[in-house]
Amino acid sequence: MKIGGFQKFSLIDYPEKVSAIIFTQGCNFRCPYCHNPELVDPALFGPLIELEEIFSFLEKRKGKIDAVVITGGEPTIQEDLLEVITRIKEMGYLIKLDTNGSKPLVLGKLIVEGVLDYIAMDVKAPLSKYQEVVRARIDPQQILESIRMVMSSGIPYEFRTTVARQLLSPEDILEIGKTIAGARCYVLQKFVPSKTLDQSFLKATTFSDSEFEVLRRKMENSFVDHCEVR
Ligand code: SF4
Repeated sequence: MKIGGFQKFSLIDYPEKVSAIIFTQGCNFRCPYCHNPELVDPALFGPLIELEEIFSFLEKRKGKIDAVVITGGEPTIQEDLLEVITRIKEMGYLIKLDTNGSKPLVLGKLIVEGVLDYIAMDVKAPLSKYQEVVRARIDPQQILESIRMVMSSGIPYEFRTTVARQLLSPEDILEIGKTIAGARCYVLQKFVPSKTLDQSFLKATTFSDSEFEVLRRKMENSFVDHCEVR
């Protein structure tokens, strides 16, 4: 597994748990607002972190950290993802996977193997404008397959959309709502311009608080059990 970053401690990345975070290197999407360009653009890749270093850290922290979050980049493009997760799980850690949902076969295998405790899947756009938003060749049916798989997995999950006004309209969010209708949890993430893959997105904006609140209510009233704005 190519690991581009490791965070030893977090209180906010796994719901109500203390976690460590593994950042995999490489992604098959090119979302312009991506705030981890050093994990996406090969020209910006830093040195890799040895997997054994992380295993040895996690061995020592057993009992002090509850969970390990696997994020990226996009973890599901890593060939040995299942093996790595299985080894961490065998140490007794809960596992949260962050994914862009583009690899339903990989996701399905992880679900069937029972190694995931929480799934956070990005739903980046209405299916009809997916390629435009993620700036990559993608079969939107694969995203739909992942959505259905996550919803029927029995594993706690959330769907998330990063909202940049330059890419998505309020109508687009409602369209996403139709696609994930019946989901338990949906998160609208405010785009924050700090570091972006596409430099022109440093000037991008997000919806106003009142626009978010209107959408949050509409999503809860019409499509999902719980919707929150982060
Ligand atoms: S935001 Fe997009 S480009 Fe960045 S890691 Fe996630 S899926 Fe990849």
